[in-house]
Amino acid sequence: MSQKRIAIFGSTGSIGTQALEVIAANKDKFSAEVLTAQNNDELLVQQALKFNPYIVVIGDEKKYPKVKQALARTDIQVFAGEKALEEVAEMDAYDLMLAAIVGYAGLKPTLQALESGKPVALANKETLVVAGDIVMKKALEKRVPVIPVDSEHSAIFQCLVGETRNKIEKVILTASGGPFRGKKPNFLVNVKRDHALQHPNWTMGAKITIDSATLMNKGLEMIEAKWLFNLKPDQIQVVIHPQSIIHSMVQFEDGSIKSQMGLPNMKLPIQYALGFPHRIPNDMPRLNFRSMSTLTFEEPDIKTFKNLGLAIDALTKGGNLPCILNAANEIAVYAFLRNRIGFLDMTEVVEQTMVKIPFIESPTLDEYLDTDGEARSFAASLIQM
Ligand code: NAD
Ligand code: MG
Repeated sequence: MSQKRIAIFGSTGSIGTQALEVIAANKDKFSAEVLTAQNNDELLVQQALKFNPYIVVIGDEKKYPKVKQALARTDIQVFAGEKALEEVAEMDAYDLMLAAIVGYAGLKPTLQALESGKPVALANKETLVVAGDIVMKKALEKRVPVIPVDSEHSAIFQCLVGETRNKIEKVILTASGGPFRGKKPNFLVNVKRDHALQHPNWTMGAKITIDSATLMNKGLEMIEAKWLFNLKPDQIQVVIHPQSIIHSMVQFEDGSIKSQMGLPNMKLPIQYALGFPHRIPNDMPRLNFRSMSTLTFEEPDIKTFKNLGLAIDALTKGGNLPCILNAANEIAVYAFLRNRIGFLDMTEVVEQTMVKIPFIESPTLDEYLDTDGEARSFAASLIQM
């Protein structure tokens, strides 16, 4: 089997670095041919020297000279800026894109990869939240797969192998509940950034860690599931499962439920997506049922964690509402991370933006892009950033 050439968009992040570990452990199967980063030029250069890709892209154009200089003795091509991401996504330098940029910024390069007929391993859930219909339509039109990396969606995807002719009754997305499970608003009102950044089961980038603490992450994942698996909103259920052993489940029309389980380790879904349809042997720790005492399940507390309710609202109403929700949430989370607003204020910002920005039933791509811009400006004006 020849090597699969991987383009990692967002190689310096939590997903990106773990993907490089998977590639390093499977050099016969994969090579890293494109690496991109927004700010962290030092890590990008270090990765480039280790993996010798064909191309690197540094998002922050001011850092271009530094990266170019550091790679001067290599034949690695260096590009910079937002536009370069799309241009590189269009090139024939890779076989599969790992979309591991965080947030809305991942949308255009991902669309460009699909447009160019490249399969996408998708970690960047915001892409589907913003414009899921357009992204999935493009994948269908170009006959290329979108393979989920998000652990819940990878679980569902794995449960569906061999079930192409069988209808899904519903999917059950598991959620750890985050660091504030069981807490009430009188506690949450005082929560600070550093506490919210401590997730019980997973180590991830800052934005998704905050989204996990507010349960917005699970809301975004419901919308992600709708598009990936072509589901109706009422076919998607969330259950809190604090141990994060069952990564998600599919219930079929006969009532039978399949789940995918394992220790919480993002390298597993990353590896599965890169290697699909093949499973790859590894020496990662195994789950041992004999030393596991309990698996528990409970209903999410939507009254306290209102972000999940807002996301369900966006999921149900559709149109550009998920795009508005996402834009406002990105602004709110970054403001919280800079200690500009409190934990519960994030919900306020999202809710008010969802009320303010005009609803569009079936937006075009341009309308999604405009909606994103308008929602960001309005959300920022609420915070006075
Ligand atoms: P991260 O913050 O650790 O890394 C983000 C990467 O994107 C970095 O390489 C950064 O340089 C790049 N980036 C950031 N802003 C950019 C911009 N404006 N333009 C171009 N590149 C930019 O994030 P992460 O935790 O690795 O998450 C990446 C994506 O994967 C997110 O959408 C997240 O929801 C999803 N995801 C992550 C995990 C996880 O365990 N970390 C699990 C499931 C899904
Ligand atoms: Mg997830």
